[in-house]
Amino acid sequence: MLRFGPAGIPVSSPKRDTVSGIKKVAELGLNAMEVEFVRGVRMSEGAAEEAGKIAKEINILLSAHAPYFINLASEDEKKREKSITFITDTAKIANALGAKIVVFHPGYYYKKDKNKTFSLMVENIKKAKKIVEENKWNVVLAPETMGRQATFGSLDEIISLCEEADVAPTIDFAHIHARGNGCLKTKDDFGKILDRVEKLGLKSLHMHFTGVEYKNGNEKKHLILEDGDLDFSLLAKELAERKINGTLINESPNLEADALHMKKVYERMK
Ligand SMILES: [Zn+2]
Repeated sequence: MLRFGPAGIPVSSPKRDTVSGIKKVAELGLNAMEVEFVRGVRMSEGAAEEAGKIAKEINILLSAHAPYFINLASEDEKKREKSITFITDTAKIANALGAKIVVFHPGYYYKKDKNKTFSLMVENIKKAKKIVEENKWNVVLAPETMGRQATFGSLDEIISLCEEADVAPTIDFAHIHARGNGCLKTKDDFGKILDRVEKLGLKSLHMHFTGVEYKNGNEKKHLILEDGDLDFSLLAKELAERKINGTLINESPNLEADALHMKKVYERMK
């Protein structure tokens, strides 16, 4: 099964709290929501448990997005330690929410040294994973493919990282498209990405999709689907043919409208 939902509380939600957002998602006919901790993890375990209970009752699958401030390959050791804490703080609340996937941006290149960067990423993700395991939090750490040349997170890097640190990827197609300066044009372009991801042997795949503005291989901003040059139907066809299970989160400024549009396009392909 493939689920669809917004990154964060729907625009049309009458209130800006997580529970109202979850209820709105169900009302709209969507079935997933990413809870955004991108500016900090500000939710108590009790509140998370309550929201998670409601989400489960109305069949909304939650995921969580860790703060943007993470840099696991920082030159400053204190910042690396802090980055691990951002991930584990998110993991703790995600566990209380019943949100299995913890999305995070791994960070930047250590002095432009890609090998050193990679080994720091692996080392620090393993440290975060150890804390998750010690606490028996039922979550999967999911580093995301990133849309700028200066950030660690090409598709190759993320797949290697997942193999090496035994974690699962968040495949953000808009980021891959921007980083490749508009590389996703045909159904086969999407298929080739899925071919590589499928080698990881995952039961389900966590994905982000949105329109994107980019220049010289760098993401500028997210766009509503209609204004971007990514054709979701090409990906939808591949996902349907391959019977891929998982979640597709829409991050466009038109959150729930675009998430609903994607769900409809996908259902037509099945
Ligand atoms: Zn992200």
